[in-house]
Amino acid sequence: MSPPFSLSCECGLDIPVAVGDAGGKKRCVCGRELQVPRLSELRKKAGRDPFESGVLDTVRRELRELDDHVGDFCLHSGRPTQDRLWVELICEQKRVVENRKSDRDWRPVKLLVTLFALLTWPFVGISYLLSRLWTDNSPIPDVQEFGHDRSISLPLPVSSEFHQDLSRKKLLKYLKQVPLFSKIFDEYPDAIVRRR
Ligand SMILES: [Zn+2]
Repeated sequence: MSPPFSLSCECGLDIPVAVGDAGGKKRCVCGRELQVPRLSELRKKAGRDPFESGVLDTVRRELRELDDHVGDFCLHSGRPTQDRLWVELICEQKRVVENRKSDRDWRPVKLLVTLFALLTWPFVGISYLLSRLWTDNSPIPDVQEFGHDRSISLPLPVSSEFHQDLSRKKLLKYLKQVPLFSKIFDEYPDAIVRRR
């Protein structure tokens, strides 16, 4: 499975970037530390609509272009088939929270300022203002993406005789075997499958 995005390092290497890396830092093998843009920026760079779920739209379009023709062989038996088992893949996106790290980095400093304020009663006013200044500076967690319920209907090449037999686990396994669908799991590793 390849991560959905990549960044170019000054050394010339392309660094794979996963959705979870957005807004954070990534170290290249050459030792340089790269600032990973926010998810919306990453999507823009990758030529996708920043507000749409890129991979699902891509798969929908590719399915249309293929006229749902995703394979001639039953994924369960390996025998030729034109039957399709339609399943619903529910793609729950993980929340990506930025700035949490930097907030944590400032915590010892804030504690010291508060201690200072407590120990220096004559300067309590100034200290209070100072500590307020620090508190006001604390970054509010900038939530980039909330967990939206997104789902997509996908046709699995499976002979109709097996349609009732397959467990969710099997369905998930077969979905990942279809190259067109496997990329969905790069962006939504926790996607769950439901029969239609
Ligand atoms: Zn590098």
